[in-house]
Amino acid sequence: MKKHNFYAGPSIMSQFTIDETAKAVNNFADMGLSILEISHRSKQFQAVMDETVALFKELLEIPEGYSVLFLGGGASLQFAMVPMNMLIHKAAYLDTGVWASKAIKEAKLFGEVDVVASSKDRNYNYIPRDYKVPEDVDYFHYTSNNTIYGTEIRKDPEVGVRMIADMSSDIFSRPVDVSKYDIIYGGAQKNLAPAGVTFVIVKDDALGKADRVIPTMLNYETHVKKGSMFNTPPVLPIFSALQTLKYYKQLGGVKVLEKMDMDKAEVLYNAIDSSKMFVATVPNHEDRSIMNVCFVMKPEYKDLEKDFIDFATEKGMMGIKGHRDVGGFRASLYNALPMESVKALVDVMKEFEAKH
Ligand SMILES: *Cc1c(COP(=O)(O)O)cnc(C)c1O
Repeated sequence: MKKHNFYAGPSIMSQFTIDETAKAVNNFADMGLSILEISHRSKQFQAVMDETVALFKELLEIPEGYSVLFLGGGASLQFAMVPMNMLIHKAAYLDTGVWASKAIKEAKLFGEVDVVASSKDRNYNYIPRDYKVPEDVDYFHYTSNNTIYGTEIRKDPEVGVRMIADMSSDIFSRPVDVSKYDIIYGGAQKNLAPAGVTFVIVKDDALGKADRVIPTMLNYETHVKKGSMFNTPPVLPIFSALQTLKYYKQLGGVKVLEKMDMDKAEVLYNAIDSSKMFVATVPNHEDRSIMNVCFVMKPEYKDLEKDFIDFATEKGMMGIKGHRDVGGFRASLYNALPMESVKALVDVMKEFEAKH
């Protein structure tokens, strides 16, 4: 039976990425060796790194003066690296979920943090709107897509200060005006590559301003100077990222991906909104994520939630259980997920509804 992959992360990758990665595990760049067993300093791997950076910049239209780094430690390490390198006196943070509040917790280790707004009062099911960012902060940090709750900020905020964003789960799902940001970072395991690599887009001349001792490996300048090769980078996930980027380019780039993602999300949200049984957890349509669609059973059907998971799983719908902080269901519709899978899920929802 065909499986449909709705996991939130690690998550679905394009068949092209998987096939090319499998080939390179057996024989990389016609070297007669696996990519797993060659030096990251070989000219063959250096070519992969160079091409990955170049294509990343091309697809996101990253202006001159920015570096793209590929590091270890996950997005979670960036929660600390960002303030360690960038927080001089005070930073502003928007609290839109668990990931955002983890970033806030780390920032507080390095200076004053102004949490300008929070949606915690309603279990993060909306994006706060009426907040002001003080002019005297070093940066404003936000999480563009709240993977757990299914909310998303799809337009670069206008806040009057330099921005830093965690775009782990919606990078390459929309054009971004990178010139407004000092840093954009994210774990690769949602829209880019297997787990193990973190991308960091950094404005070169924004670095080196914080007056504190920074360990070498945690200093962005180290990695900018060495082109992400100060130490051994995550070779295999970087290779896979390159394949994904090639696939994105071949599809037509970020604007085409955005259209595909919007179309998929619309089909699923429409099915939920017109259902007698299911209800979306994010009421405001503008705040709804096109990457992670969260929904639950209406109160009168609540005791059928477990049955629906079992029913859907039997029909090949994988990974639709909601995060424990929200409950219910979450269907992640990342770039690599085809419309066919969304339609298959909608059919299963309708079939289940008809039975009850
Ligand atoms: C998954 C996720 C993270 C955590 O990433 P790790 O690479 O596991 O540290 C952080 N932020 C967001 C928005 C995420 O979706």
